[in-house]
Order: sequence, then structure tokens, then C-alpha cells
Amino acid sequence: MSTYTVSLPSYSIGEDCYKEIPYITRYFGKKAIAIGGKTAMEKAKPYLLEGIQGSQLEITDFLWYGGNSTYENGDALIENPLLKQADMIFGIGGGRACDTAKYVADQLDKPLFTFPTLASNCAAVTGISVIYNPDGSMKEYYYPKLANHCFINSAIIADSPESFLWAGIGDALSKECEAIFSSKDDQLSHTPMMGVQLSQICTDPLVEYGAKALEDIRAKRTSYELDQVTLDIIISTGIVSNMTTTPSDYYYNSTLAHCVYYGATITPGGHKHLHGEVVSLGVLCLLEYMKDEKELERLMAFNASIGLPICFDDIQIQESEFPAMADKFTQTTEWTHLPKEVTRESFLASMSTLNAKGRAFKAARQL
Ligand SMILES: [Zn+2]
Repeated sequence: MSTYTVSLPSYSIGEDCYKEIPYITRYFGKKAIAIGGKTAMEKAKPYLLEGIQGSQLEITDFLWYGGNSTYENGDALIENPLLKQADMIFGIGGGRACDTAKYVADQLDKPLFTFPTLASNCAAVTGISVIYNPDGSMKEYYYPKLANHCFINSAIIADSPESFLWAGIGDALSKECEAIFSSKDDQLSHTPMMGVQLSQICTDPLVEYGAKALEDIRAKRTSYELDQVTLDIIISTGIVSNMTTTPSDYYYNSTLAHCVYYGATITPGGHKHLHGEVVSLGVLCLLEYMKDEKELERLMAFNASIGLPICFDDIQIQESEFPAMADKFTQTTEWTHLPKEVTRESFLASMSTLNAKGRAFKAARQL
């Protein structure tokens, strides 16, 4: 067996967790530079300055990441002399800001600390960056080293827009069923086996605490439930992603639920909906494909309870668009790593069956 290394995310969460920054960064130097989103840095800055107050750590500047995770934006930052002089990089914001910071820190070979300001995805702790073209279309995946530590300030998360958390819940719902389904026929070695096991703690907390967490974020208040959902979306899914993905050997990180998303991006109605929103409908399609009736019933009821989609009408897609969606999703990484028995026709049939079940659910409850 060839040598390999696994890095796992380490993290802090809480309203006062930025006070841990001087201690956790103490081996890495005294000069940090922040790069991130404009709103994110505006919100995080007072907490950051308070957190490092009285320590020898200094934040030399706050630099905008450029608005999208492109190589062009990353390379412009790399040329900035302030970044070259810094001992460590603080990446602040949502997924695209964190992905850019991961690329920059990797290229400069400097320590990276992430400060997610939204609970919408696991970018703050994963070893993968989604890179876009300057025109906004997706370019490729880049595989950077992991952030050294992730600081999740619960007060900042509580002050973020509800829609990001809502879609983040929808996306995180896919982790467990996708990891289990995509790995089911394989003999798993240690690391992916551990990742698939961990995926089984991703769904329950979302179902149990999701509605209350959304209520709290609407009221901009921190709570136990909001922290549980935040940890699920950022940390649990991030660990699973790191343990079930390799650039070449195996890929159990996403499968048919995400195929529905990729297919939806080419439809006029579907592409207007958020990633996690569409993925949550993809989860129901996958459960229908797996013939897991019990879980399908449970998650359909959950989706409906928080306004996530349960049939394709909810994301403005007609069944006549399914073949075009399949032309798109059969071109994805997800499709090339499927269990052998899956065919285009069999999955399209499950999408139709699910659509009928979702419509019937709504009709029965007059939704
Ligand atoms: Zn996703």
C-alpha cells in the first residue's frame, strides 16, 4: 500500500471563540492578514480585534477576495506584498471566500485559519476549492491543503441571512444517503470506511433541530439548536467530505442527489433555485431510487415542514425537461462513480415516481 496522509479539520465554536485565536495560532507567528468577503469582514472585524486584544498577534490588513473564487482573483492577492510578508492568512466569509483563501494559502505555503460567517457549506474545513472562470461559470476543482483551524463565531452565524442556513440544511441532508449509496458495492479501506460511518450523524440533527435553528436565525439569536445545525453543515459534512474524496482513487462524497442539481442548472426554472434547495429534492429522488420508503417519508415531511422542495413543481421544472437534465448530469464526476446498476433510464424513472409522490403529498395536505 502506498503512503498517504489524512488531515482532519480542527475547530472552535461559540460566541467567544475568537478569543481562542492567540492561543491556537501561537506557533505560527505574529502577523496575520485577512482576506474575505466585504460584508463578512465588516461583521467579523470587531470580534476579531476584540479576540486578539492584549496579545502579540496583529492583523496587518483586511483585503477583499475579489468576489469569486477564480485563479485570477487568487493570483492578484498572491502578488500583494502584504500577503507575502504575513506569517499566516485568515480566510473570512462564505464558501467562495474560503475557497479563494485556501488556494492563496496553498500557493504561498502559509498557515491558514478560516472564519466562516455563514452556515451554508463545509468549505471552511475541506481540502477542495471550487474554482470558477472569470465569466462566472465553473472551471474545476483545486485541491489545497486544509486550514489549520476553523473558528465558528455563533453570534456572527446568528446574524447571517436565513436563506443560506436553509439551503445549507438542504445540502447537508445529502451527505449521509449519498455516501452510503455511492460506496455500497465497494470494499472500503480504513479512511473511506470511517468517512461513510461518520456520514450517519449528518441527517438526524438537521431533522431534529433544523426548524428551531431557522426560527433562531430569523430572530438573530444564538442557540443550542443553531450551533448543532451549524456544526452539522460545516464540520460533520466537511469531515465526511475529506475522508470520502480523493482526486483519483475513490469518490463517495456526492452522487445522484447532486446529479439532480447539475441537471437543474440547465433548466430555465431550476437554475434560479439555490444549490442546497435543489439538492434536497435530489435527496428525495435518491431515496426513491434506493426504495428506502421510511426515510423518504421522513425527509419529505421534513422538507415540507421547512419549505424545502418535495416535487419538481416546487423548483419550476417540468418532467419534459428530464431528458435534457440527464444529458447534463451524465457528464459529471458523480455519474462516473456510481454503483454499476444505475442507468439513466432507471434514475429518470425514480425522478418521475418521486415527482408523483411529492405532488400527492401536497394534494393530501392542501399545500
Ligand atoms: Zn452540495
